[in-house]
Amino acid sequence: MKLTAVELRRIAMPLVAPFRTSFGTQHTRDILLVRVRTEEAEGWGECVAMASPLYSAEYVDGAADVLRGHLVPALVASDVPDAGAVAPALSAVKGHRMAKAALEMAVLDAELRAEGRSFGRELGAVHDRVPCGVSVGIMDSVPELLDAVGAFLDQGYVRIKLKIEPGWDVEPVRAVRERFGDDLLLQVDANTAYRPGDARHLARLDAFDLLLIEQPFDEEDLLGHADLARLIRTPVCLDESIGSARDAAAAIRLGATQVVNIKPGRVGGYLEARRIHDVCAAHGVPVWCGGMLETGLGRAANVALAALPGFTLPGDTSASGRYYATDVTEPFVLDEGHLAVPAGAGLGVTPVPERLEAVTTASEWLDL
Ligand SMILES: [Mg+2]
Repeated sequence: MKLTAVELRRIAMPLVAPFRTSFGTQHTRDILLVRVRTEEAEGWGECVAMASPLYSAEYVDGAADVLRGHLVPALVASDVPDAGAVAPALSAVKGHRMAKAALEMAVLDAELRAEGRSFGRELGAVHDRVPCGVSVGIMDSVPELLDAVGAFLDQGYVRIKLKIEPGWDVEPVRAVRERFGDDLLLQVDANTAYRPGDARHLARLDAFDLLLIEQPFDEEDLLGHADLARLIRTPVCLDESIGSARDAAAAIRLGATQVVNIKPGRVGGYLEARRIHDVCAAHGVPVWCGGMLETGLGRAANVALAALPGFTLPGDTSASGRYYATDVTEPFVLDEGHLAVPAGAGLGVTPVPERLEAVTTASEWLDL
């Protein structure tokens, strides 16, 4: 497979409402798209790195820089036969998984479009639609939170995830559980905001029958999560800590994770994401697909991944309208709490040219 052109394109996507997590508040999503051309087809990748290195060490300017200066030149020099060879060709570059994932996604999309195969078929999807949860940010007040959760349930979302942080945990969770009842599928995500000394406080969440608590401690603290998992009844789920299938295997063996949130961008791409799915399935560990406020491009691939058999919990694969009034692709629209897995070649969706132009802030075709 010969790359004939690579574009790095930056877009600015205004959010329908500010999204607050324990590490900050986003108003606009600054996204790096990677477009590749081969002799047969064009493919799109979406980088999930955020504007600042607050979710993880990566950030969008850094991703663009490492793609431009290191990853694309390494890929061009290595003359890979297919998308499966992209990660090995990039392995000399340490880290930068979000940047690598975007490049691999673009190459895989081009390959699959040329062959007329979909992401779902390639990854091993066994469903044609997936149930969708929604991630609800930290609010200024509990009444505001209850209104937001009620609105999402009215839209059909089948599972609610509450972002939490110290000072915004037990009371909002209690309020949501009391208002919406015991049947609501409910989980929480701390994005590393707690310390191991908070374990007894976090045990108070056991009273609310949560599906899981996601990443309470620092991403490098596997032992802390293992200790917590022994102390509380709520299953512990790792997100930020899992960068690879090897990480997942280690975390499972240590007892640090009982559920895994798989985000392809965080782990270097959809092919490594599938390996994590396989490792977890072999250990009987349920997985679900996380989200990074993707456009329709990343959303299409995430929905395909979430249709694999081990994804037994609803993911954060929300509809386009959860985050964006206008998506760059045709929007993903919720149907009775589900999104359809795209069946067309490659991602099965393509940017609408005028929508893409309207949000583009920069475009750069690299010298190959
Ligand atoms: Mg998370």
